[in-house]
Amino acid sequence: MSATSCNVRVLRQKALAPDIRRLTVALPQEGPMPHAGQFYMLRAWAASESPLLSRPISVHDVDEQERTLTFLYQIKGEGTQKLAHLAWGQTLTLTGPCGNGFDAAAAAKAGKVAVVGGGIGTAPLLLLCKELSAAGCRPDLMVGFRDKVYGLEAFEPYCAKIDIATDTGAVGHHGLVTDLLDPAAYGLVLTCGPGVMMRGVAKLCQAAGTPCLASLENKMACGLGACLGCTCHTKVGPKTVCKDGPVFPAEEVFEL
Ligand SMILES: Cc1cc2nc3c(=O)[nH]c(=O)nc-3n(C[C@H](O)[C@H](O)[C@H](O)COP(=O)(O)OP(=O)(O)OC[C@H]3O[C@@H](n4cnc5c(N)ncnc54)[C@H](O)[C@@H]3O)c2cc1C
Repeated sequence: MSATSCNVRVLRQKALAPDIRRLTVALPQEGPMPHAGQFYMLRAWAASESPLLSRPISVHDVDEQERTLTFLYQIKGEGTQKLAHLAWGQTLTLTGPCGNGFDAAAAAKAGKVAVVGGGIGTAPLLLLCKELSAAGCRPDLMVGFRDKVYGLEAFEPYCAKIDIATDTGAVGHHGLVTDLLDPAAYGLVLTCGPGVMMRGVAKLCQAAGTPCLASLENKMACGLGACLGCTCHTKVGPKTVCKDGPVFPAEEVFEL
């Protein structure tokens, strides 16, 4: 599926926490719809304005009938601050869908599936759970947050169960999300979150002999595989996170 650029209109933007926003835009009537794990390069400022580069944000949700696209993002620096100022009716430029994403239909054939997320790494997991559920497999969702939990009610229709861990113990298990995971109980584990968390998930999966796919993040410029700026070293050679990934077999990208 090839990426295209288009200007889209903001339908709504909501704060879920002081630094977390959910942004919904209207897609043009023509053009590809993304699938879980893919992302777009977002730009809400002129080419002459800073920051120089568009910002990669995963697809959180899609509504195929209404042709809307929803992003869930954390305000970190200049680019995401500019996105947070967008209001109804304003426009931004999207390039995408980018990347390979998760193959939910294939994953659903693996038997019982666990989806493990950490913090804003839960963003691409909603569409993943939705696609898995549509393919006949309601996954078990395990999510870890520092303290404040956000956005989980949207997952409820698509998951067999949702287990929560927080660093502070404010909600759910007081500890790491990896404490909640027994990979031996699953045919496949899919994960997105901080690198250290995904490596922990991958290690448990390796010990249990359970396949694991991880969605990586890396700083990137073009999002299309052209500039090679996001190249990472894997056990099968260098790969671009934006085009070859962001989803990779975990044992290829983590030292375990
Ligand atoms: C494929 C992909 C999908 C992503 N999906 C989402 C998403 O759904 N929701 C979301 O909130 N974020 C997502 N990100 C991360 C998001 O792109 C960055 O947080 C954003 O680009 C920061 O831009 P900024 O201008 O606000 O901050 P900057 O000023 O550029 O950076 C602020 C801080 O964030 C760090 N940072 C910047 N970019 C990245 C990056 N790519 N990876 C790790 N750290 C970074 C910087 O080192 C710095 O410490 C994704 C990244 C990738 C590569």
